[in-house]
Amino acid sequence: MFNSKTHRLEKLYQELKNCQKCPLALTRTQVVCGEGNINSNVFLIGLAPGKDEDKKGRMFVGRAGKVLDELLKKASLHRSYFYMSNLIKCMLPNNRPPKKDEIEACTSYLDEEIEIINPDILVPLGFFATKYIFSKYGISCKIEMNSICGKIFFAENKKIMPLHHPASLLYSPNLKSIMERTYIKLKNFL
Ligand code: SF4
Repeated sequence: MFNSKTHRLEKLYQELKNCQKCPLALTRTQVVCGEGNINSNVFLIGLAPGKDEDKKGRMFVGRAGKVLDELLKKASLHRSYFYMSNLIKCMLPNNRPPKKDEIEACTSYLDEEIEIINPDILVPLGFFATKYIFSKYGISCKIEMNSICGKIFFAENKKIMPLHHPASLLYSPNLKSIMERTYIKLKNFL
């Protein structure tokens, strides 16, 4: 089982590294694949690599990653507990929002990762990841992050708990206490 998971992920990462399915292939330095504990029951879903991630080829290694680590630490959690991947695997120029066709082109990779990791709990971080996961699992709910973060939604054989994307705190420091509270809710839920 472990070996087949590893093998399937390696195959997927190989395919991803050469992907040219959308124009983001022209502006990236490298594709950033998922990483973390492949046997975890919890899958964190970010938006896309930023500049630092694009340069280093790793997830959450820039400022948002530092915020993520702090939020997890405050909740007595650590990133090594989770598997993590992004909705979009290549950097979005100037951190602009993803376009519809980019989401359509890229999310088959995330779908495959979810199938391979087969977690019980999905944690989409921020609006775009939550929107995609809600639509994938047929959850109809207005996506207002301040009201849905930290709540549990049930779908098929998954539980979904949206949280704010850690980068939100870089732009809106006033979200600090609500974000700390919701990340602690994740810990309590686990
Ligand atoms: S964003 Fe996704 S679909 Fe587009 S080139 Fe990168 S890996 Fe391929």
